[in-house]
Amino acid sequence: MKGKVAIITGASSGIGYSTANLLAGNGITVMLAARREDRLMQVRDEIIRKGGKASYKVTDVTSYDQMKELANQTLQEFGKIDILINNAGIMPISYMRKLKVDDWNRMIDVNIKGVLHGIAAVLPAMEERNEGHIINISSVAGHEVYPPRVLYSATKHAVRIITEGLRKELLPTQNIRTTLLSPGSVETELVNSVNDEEVLHMIQQEGSLDHSLNSEDIANAILYAIQQPSTVSVNDMIIRPTAQR
Ligand code: NDP
Repeated sequence: MKGKVAIITGASSGIGYSTANLLAGNGITVMLAARREDRLMQVRDEIIRKGGKASYKVTDVTSYDQMKELANQTLQEFGKIDILINNAGIMPISYMRKLKVDDWNRMIDVNIKGVLHGIAAVLPAMEERNEGHIINISSVAGHEVYPPRVLYSATKHAVRIITEGLRKELLPTQNIRTTLLSPGSVETELVNSVNDEEVLHMIQQEGSLDHSLNSEDIANAILYAIQQPSTVSVNDMIIRPTAQR
């Protein structure tokens, strides 16, 4: 574990923030990526204060150029990329009949294209060393569909299919592991990306956030997948609060 280098997207809050702290506490060097520079600086400083190794790069995952720059900076600063955690995501959900096409496109851009850009940015360096681990964050919504989460669910289904397809494609020749992690409800800032009053009311009514996991619970699962010997590939994990339907 010690000396490994991990890129974490969406490291400025929630699951990405907790994962960055946990991995750094276990000797992994972390490259933090997100859009909010003030938050990234805080996370980096906190990790360094606790004795960990971290750097950051302001990155919008919807830009393939910025993702390539993120990978290049990681290689320049730390010499290799062992792990990519494609974690950045948004959830501006609404009923499809409301035709919030801009929100559909934003979810597709961040949740699907962001993951693809991450894979494309790191794969050449991983293939060169014939070693690596790509961890993609899907959701329980990537295994089922309930309105008004249809578009969000579609993006998370795509992440699941992309991860499993990549695993099969790399299988014959490569020593690159893939992990799909599908959380249930986790208490983070994700709900802030919901902008539809009807949906916000529904979320309050159904009390779906009442029994949420902590972001540390998901970070622990990510660490578990990373900690396995290189011959063991943890491919698919669903982590729900025990009380979640
Ligand atoms: P948060 O809102 O706390 O974190 C989302 C992160 O994504 C932030 O760091 C944000 O940073 C980053 N982000 C958003 N858009 C972009 C972008 N265009 N480019 C780069 N970074 C971006 O939510 P979570 O921690 O909960 O979310 C992490 C992942 O977990 C997401 O993929 C989410 O779908 C998934 N998930 C969450 C669940 C939950 O209940 N919380 C359940 C199932 C899955 P910034 O704004 O600074 O760019």
